Formats: sequence, structure tokens, C-alpha cells
Amino acid sequence: MKFRKTAASAAVVLTLALSATACGGKEGPAGDKTGGDTDTKALPKYKVAEDVKVDSPVLKKAQKRGKLIVGAKSDQPYLGFQDPSSKKYEGFDIEVAKMVAADLGFGEKDIQFKTIDSSVRETAISKGQVDLMVGTYTINDERKKQVAFAGPYYMAGQDLLVRKDEKSIKGPDSIKGKKVCSVTGSTPLQNIKDNKSKYGAEPVEFGKYTDCVKQLLDGQVDAMTTDDAILKGYAAERPTKLKVVGETFSEEPYGIGLKKGDKELQNAVLDAVEAHQKDGSYKKAYDATLGRSGSKFEEPPALERD
Ligand code: GLU
Repeated sequence: MKFRKTAASAAVVLTLALSATACGGKEGPAGDKTGGDTDTKALPKYKVAEDVKVDSPVLKKAQKRGKLIVGAKSDQPYLGFQDPSSKKYEGFDIEVAKMVAADLGFGEKDIQFKTIDSSVRETAISKGQVDLMVGTYTINDERKKQVAFAGPYYMAGQDLLVRKDEKSIKGPDSIKGKKVCSVTGSTPLQNIKDNKSKYGAEPVEFGKYTDCVKQLLDGQVDAMTTDDAILKGYAAERPTKLKVVGETFSEEPYGIGLKKGDKELQNAVLDAVEAHQKDGSYKKAYDATLGRSGSKFEEPPALERD
């Protein structure tokens, strides 16, 4: 009997490992995954436009160099993740970047992804280190002073990630006196700092979300806060150790960041997002990436054209 049980669980482990490999995810102990679990076979193909003419200084420069430089996140499974061995980027934001790039005339091999952390996005865009930034980038007025956005293409909301055995933290009303980790330059960190009297949390700040995940797993902090879409990815990676609690307590509309004043590029990016939302490839891309972490597909918010 004992043997049979072991054989059965070994078979389960093997099946999981095989399916994880087929999907591009990597399976670790206790069903943990790293990097998300993209269904690579279900990803849409994007037709690359030819002879694209947009009166944008940024795009013209990219056309000259033959590469579109896209700022991305590298440690957010299901959204923007760089595989440490293949160096390839994957996730929903990466797909959004690919669909936009295709409409601007750049195929997958002509995109150069660059990891840009939350605190340096505005600088990277305004200094021309990236042509576009596609990385869980909340559109807000403060940031609009420095950069422009095309979007919103997705609506996220601030949430909390805790250890699986956590009992006392159930939402933003129960983080008083708790150590809550987030990332420098992010809106969720700003929210708990600006509203200290409301939430009463003790903010702990790092440069990367994976540093917060580590702190949380090691018991150094009590919770981690950022967008639900990001947190669900970490919870899906470690279903036996982490969970997302409560309801979202902010609105985080995601936009594609670009150089302020480049109206033509902004419109071209908006046209691209709109076209892919209409032809179904946006949903297809979502279902093959972020949709696999427990964030159900919802109709995207209306794009803003100003
Ligand atoms: N969406 C939020 C922001 O733009 C949090 C996620 C992030 O840090 O990228 O700040």
C-alpha cells in the first residue's frame, strides 16, 4: 500500500514536471514554479507591419538602429519575467510589447528588452534609454509630468501578499504596526507611506519585488504590497507558502510609457493596442500568460485619447 501511494505521488510529480516543461514553467519542490507558466503554444502570432511611417523622433531613431528598445520587468512571473538561463522575457506585458512592436514594424527578434526597475522608469524614458516601457506601469498625474502614457490597457489594484499560515492580516485594515514590504518608486509603497495614519503599517522598501518575496518567506516582514496582478503571480508560484488576501484598495491603470510630447508615437501605440484588443489577440495573449495565475480576464478599460 505504502509503495503504491509513493508510486502514485511520484507519477503526479512527474506529470506536473512534464506539463510544466511543456508550458515553459519550471517546477520546484512542493509544486513551486519559477517564472510563471506561459502556455507558449497558445500565444498569438503578431503580423509585423511593413513600411511604417510615423512622425515620431523616437520611432525614427529605432527604425534607423533596427531595434526597438523596450523597458520591461524581469522578476514578475506571468507579467514580465526573464528566464535566467535562456535570458528570454515572457509574460503578459511582454506580449503587449510584442503586439505593439509588430504594428510599429518590429518583429520579435527586433525587440531589445531591457530590465528597468520601478524607481528608474521615468529616467529611462526621458533619457532615451528605452523607446517604450511596458512594465506594470500605473498611469498617474505625477508621472505624466515627466513621461507620456498610452493606455490604460489593463486595470490592476493594490493588494496584500502574506504567508499561507498568516491569520491576523486580512486586508488593509489589519496591517497596523505590521512590516509591509514594497518597492521603491512604486505607487503601492507611496500609498502606505502617504496614508500612514490610515493604515499604520511600517513600510520596508527594496528595489525589486523578488527581494520582498524573499523577506516574506524568511519571516523578515509580515506582508508585501503591490498590484494584485503581480502578487497573484507570486502566490501561484508558491501555492503552499503564500496567499493574496483581501480586496484591492486602489486603482492601478497600466499604461505604456513613452517620451513626453511624442504625440505621434503615443497615438500609434494606442492604435496598436486597440487593434489587438479588437482582433482577439490581446485576450489570447492574456489567457496564455497572466490568466494562468488566477487573474481572470476582464474587459480592458477604455483607452484614453487626449
Ligand atoms: N503599478 C504600480 C506602479 O507603477 C506598482 C507596480 C510596479 O512597481 O511596477 O508603481
